[in-house]
Order: sequence, then C-alpha cells, then structure tokens
Amino acid sequence: MKQIVIISGKGGTGKTVVTSAFASLAKNKVMADCDVDAADLHLLLSPQIKEKYEFKSGVTAVIDKELCNQCEQCVQVCRFSAVNTSQSASGEKEFVVDPIACEGCAFCSFVCPTKAIKMEENVSGEWYISDTRFGSLVHAKLGIASENSGKLVTLVKQKAKELAEKQNCDWIIIDGAPGIGCPVIASLSGVDYALVITEPTLSGLHDADRVIKMVKHFKLSVKLIINKYDLNKEMTEKIEEYCKSRDIPLIGKISFDESMVKAMIEGKTIIEYGQGKARDEIITIWDRLKKT
Ligand code: SF4
Ligand code: SF4
Repeated sequence: MKQIVIISGKGGTGKTVVTSAFASLAKNKVMADCDVDAADLHLLLSPQIKEKYEFKSGVTAVIDKELCNQCEQCVQVCRFSAVNTSQSASGEKEFVVDPIACEGCAFCSFVCPTKAIKMEENVSGEWYISDTRFGSLVHAKLGIASENSGKLVTLVKQKAKELAEKQNCDWIIIDGAPGIGCPVIASLSGVDYALVITEPTLSGLHDADRVIKMVKHFKLSVKLIINKYDLNKEMTEKIEEYCKSRDIPLIGKISFDESMVKAMIEGKTIIEYGQGKARDEIITIWDRLKKT
C-alpha cells in the first residue's frame, strides 16, 4: 500500500483539484483530507457521513459555583488571567474561567481549597468516515478558535490507514495542508512521498522551495507538479532548472484550462468532467506516479 500526500507552499495552487482528480483515477484507495483548518475536498467529493466522532484535545478549568467559597486563590495563581469575576443573573459575584484564555495548566484546581475546579476535556472538533462516489474518505472539522490541528491530522491519517488496511487498499491519497506549519508536518509522517503543487510565479517558487526543504528535512521523497505552467513559461523554465539543480523529479506540468473551473462549478472532478487539456495531463501524471 502506498501513501502519498499532496501539499503546496501556499493555498490556492490547485492542490485540492489535483487531489480530487487522483481520487477519480486511483482504484482501490482511501482518501484523507488532512487540510483540517480549511477542509474543502468534501466540496468536490460530496461525502455521505457514515461515522462521526468528537475530537477531544486538551483540558479547560471549570468552576462549580456551588462549591466555590470565593477565596480568590485561583485568580491569584492563574498566570494567564483566565479566571474572572462576573455577576450572576441574581446579581451575585461569581468566579468564572474564560475558556479561550485558559491554557489548561490545572494550577488553579490544585490550589482550590474546596475542590470547586474541575479540568474538563475540550471538544475541539469532529472527524468523520464517509462514503464518496470514489470510495471512503476520512475527514475532519476543527472547531472555531481550536488548536491542535496537528493532532487532528495525525488522527485522520491513522484512521485512514486503519481503514485502508481493513479494505486491503493499494493507495492512501492525502490532501495535505498548505504551508509549512504543524498540520502539514503531521500529514507527512509515514508517507511514501510528498507531491508538491506550485504555480509559475516567483512567490510560487519561493513557497515550493520552503515546503520542499521541509519535506527533505524529514528525509522524505518529494516530487513537483507545476500547475498553470503555460501562464508564465519563463518562470516555468526557472522552476525546471531549480528541479534539475536539486535533483527533484518534476513529475508533470498542467496547463491553465478553463475546464478546471467549469468542472468545479458542476461539482465534478476534472476527470469526471471528461474534457480539457489539463485532464489529459493529470491522467499522464497519475500514470507516471503509478510506476514510481
Ligand atoms: S480557588 Fe476555588 S474556592 Fe477559591 S475562588 Fe477559586 S474556585 Fe472559588
Ligand atoms: S487551568 Fe491554568 S490557565 Fe486555566 S484557569 Fe486554571 S490556572 Fe488559569
């Protein structure tokens, strides 16, 4: 079984469009959307959620007002100024924890003389196993202002792997996060190679270079695709030279093609859309990938 992750130096390079095209082409696979901060693979794959789970991560202090004797010790020890006083509906003073400011260190719960403070697990998001017209998809949604997207990515990948093993799949196709942050690093672990999508601009090259260096730092194999290469052939040549000088396989180039947008408007992958130069080029790239 091969695991590939499709990533990019920044958002908007066509990463999800290419991932969804591979999802149409690959037989016998499980897909994982690891771009949990801005998941959008589901928009093209229209998943039917079959299983839904809470993602719990970290703890937050919660004060039981009945047990609180208002000694203020929690206010004094909290280094994050997360414990505040407020007025209850009946006008009485009460102590409350601001869940956004609370770092979950639990110091307040240790000093509280009446054991009024409990540390409760945070529900930071949800993750799902869904059916799509191309097979199973494991995906997730991180809650607003929630952290630990790296942890959620690791969970999504782990569940995708378990499912792929159960279904005896040949491929796990992972839509990774853009950039070089924690979620993308988490999406790299255990993959056979990373596929970086870039566009022919100076910033595209700069962003791709950053993400390639990160992949190489983890001693993983990396391949590059230039999307919309014909919009700036001079810059495409520079990227080709960059690949040659660093021994990075340029696995293919995709033309700018309005069919990509038309396919998206119809909620189809470019492969399902059935026409366009970009479609043929992606099919060629997939054929090459199958042989690597
Ligand atoms: S330390 Fe405990 S008892 Fe004292 S104010 Fe805080 S919650 Fe109330
Ligand atoms: S758990 Fe730590 S950060 Fe949260 S309220 Fe208590 S002392 Fe402050």
